[in-house]
Amino acid sequence: MIVTSQIDELRKHRWADPSLTWGFVPTMGYLHAGHLSLVQLSLVGNDKTAVSIYVNPTQFAPTEDLSSYPRNLAGDLALLEAAGVDLVFTPSDTIMYPPGFQTTVNLSNVTQPLEGRSRPTHFAGVATVVAKLFNIVQPTRAYFGQKDAQQTVVLRQLVRDLNFNVAMIIGPTSREPDSLAMSSRNARLSKADRLAAPILYQALSAAKNAYASGERSGVALRGLMWEMITAVPQAKIDYVSAADPKTLEELEIVEDGVLLSTAVFFGKTRLIDNILIEATENTEEKEGNF
Ligand code: AMP
Repeated sequence: MIVTSQIDELRKHRWADPSLTWGFVPTMGYLHAGHLSLVQLSLVGNDKTAVSIYVNPTQFAPTEDLSSYPRNLAGDLALLEAAGVDLVFTPSDTIMYPPGFQTTVNLSNVTQPLEGRSRPTHFAGVATVVAKLFNIVQPTRAYFGQKDAQQTVVLRQLVRDLNFNVAMIIGPTSREPDSLAMSSRNARLSKADRLAAPILYQALSAAKNAYASGERSGVALRGLMWEMITAVPQAKIDYVSAADPKTLEELEIVEDGVLLSTAVFFGKTRLIDNILIEATENTEEKEGNF
């Protein structure tokens, strides 16, 4: 496995045989089974697989957890090597944002609601770093998790708007046995908060079941989730949402698919989760088989 922080060296390997397909999994490290499920999708779908490990400072607001974001490069590299990854890109901040750097990629509508309301600069950071990584790696296919539902919408829009020649593949959310969506941030939950955290998926599932039983009111679906989560004393809701899966606008009436999503604070740790109910014929959640 090649591990490099250098763009030139990465490109040398990437283009050693231009006939080969490359899958790419961008991450911020501290890898768990959710990241590795995306790596597996890439390994089976491509000749070669590259993973980036980079905690991108521009997607964290000054008040957020950049300095305390968990890191374990040696452990991550061991997992990726065992999985059979071909190349890991581990750039430094000066390689990604050298002195004099001055370009930011901003998307308008889809970055505004949900995560964007609490984290107004987050998606500019994400879009900028992903645009850079796509130009550096030039992958055939790129793999992202449904766990970060709004990110998938934003990045699909980025690829369309800027004509990136990259196929976007979205993998299902990997979960702990008690249904909590895997996240690097789960490690920071207190014991009591960790026990309470499955309420996110329980509330989303209750809304999904209400939808399956015929509930079409966005207000009712959001209200159901709100009530269940607020019943947990240490859970502080940032948002509950029943939104259009493409525009991310809140729905009054759910007609053709809905993205149910929530963000909840446990202490300083902010957790997100979602269930996507696809439009039309079937109302199956796009969620793997948990
Ligand atoms: P991060 O390291 O948090 O930036 O995540 C890197 C990629 O892994 C993103 O595309 C995430 O959506 C994805 N990811 C994070 N958690 C999970 C999960 N539990 N299941 C599937 N994919 C995930």
